Amino acid sequence: MSMRNPRMMREKKTIEAMTKIYCNDHHSTGNELCSECQELYEYAKTRLEKCPFQENKPTCAKCLIHCYKTSMRIKIRDVMRHSGPRMLFKHPVLALHHIRYGFKNPEKAPKSQG
Ligand SMILES: [Zn+2]
Repeated sequence: MSMRNPRMMREKKTIEAMTKIYCNDHHSTGNELCSECQELYEYAKTRLEKCPFQENKPTCAKCLIHCYKTSMRIKIRDVMRHSGPRMLFKHPVLALHHIRYGFKNPEKAPKSQG
């Protein structure tokens, strides 16, 4: 249900794209995710579905990382560190949204900002 809102859909796509880039570069799995990265992606999706912020969610760097359990947090951090800069070239639209929402503060998000 919550996955139907555009914000969360995009977030899900971003995570999927980032995980793919990372897996491809580190585990040479081509377009498929290896079982480890698949697990991480499934976990990330679950976290997104349970995210209390939903539409107002800040991006992963600010928010996701804090709700992940330790082992997954370490993995997703690596994925983001690796894939973050590469996203600009491979998925510029997703990356730009990501950057834009990165400045949002979940507690007191300004209502009109551009
Ligand atoms: Zn992998």
